[in-house]
Amino acid sequence: MTTWFIADLHLDASRPGITQQLLDFLASVQGRADALYILGDFFEYWVGDDALGTPHAAVFLPVVDALQRLSASGVPMYFQHGNRDFLVGEGFAKATGCTLLPEQQVIDLYGTPTLLLHGDSLCTDDVEYQQLRKLFRNPQWQQQFLSLPLGERIQQAEAMRVQSRMRMQGKAETILDVNPQAVVETMAAAGVSRLIHGHTHRPAVHDVTIANRPAQRIVLGDWHEDRGSFLSVDAGEVRLTV
Ligand code: MN
Repeated sequence: MTTWFIADLHLDASRPGITQQLLDFLASVQGRADALYILGDFFEYWVGDDALGTPHAAVFLPVVDALQRLSASGVPMYFQHGNRDFLVGEGFAKATGCTLLPEQQVIDLYGTPTLLLHGDSLCTDDVEYQQLRKLFRNPQWQQQFLSLPLGERIQQAEAMRVQSRMRMQGKAETILDVNPQAVVETMAAAGVSRLIHGHTHRPAVHDVTIANRPAQRIVLGDWHEDRGSFLSVDAGEVRLTV
C-alpha cells in the first residue's frame, strides 16, 4: 500500500479544473492508500470554517464530500496549514474526517523518520514575509479576523492575495526559496533523514547531508488546471509526479 502527499492546490472558484483534478485523484487513490497527507495551501485562501454552510464555499462542497468519503472508507487523512489556509479549523476537520497536524510533524514512513511541514517557515531570507507569518499565526489576530462579517473577511483575503503577489514580484528567486541552512538545522533538530514539504512550487527530490548522513528533501509540486502533482511513498519506493 501507499502513502500519498499533496500540497499547493490553491483551490479556488476561478480555477475549476484543479478541483476536478483533485476529485479524480481522490477517486483514484481509493482502495490503494495507507494514508493521505495534505501539506498546506490546499485552498487559495480560507476565511473560516463557518463559510462552509454559505454560498461562498459552495464550490468546495464536492471536495468536502470526496474527502469525507475517502475518510469513511478507512483512509486516515491529515491536514497541515499553509500560508494561505491557516484558518482551516476543527469545523473543516470534522466535515472531512481529516486530522489537523501541527506546524511540524514527524512521522514514521515505512521505517524512515520523516518531517512534514508546509515549507514557508524555511524561507528565512524573506524577512518581510516571516514577520507577516508571525502575525497570521497569532491566535489573537486570527480570532479578531474570524469575528468580522464573512463579506469583510472575503474582501480582506482578496486584498491580501493581491498584496502577496505584489510582494513576490519584487523579490529575487533565491529569497523566495528555502534557506539551505534552515533546512539542515530544522531536519537535524527533528532528528530525521527525510523532509517533505511544499510551498515553493519547485517540485524536486534533493539529496542533503544531515549530521554526516545522507538525507532527502522532497518538495511537492503545485497543481494546475490540467494536471495535479503528488508524491507516493511505499516500503520500497518514493515517486514524485508533477
Ligand atoms: Mn505556501
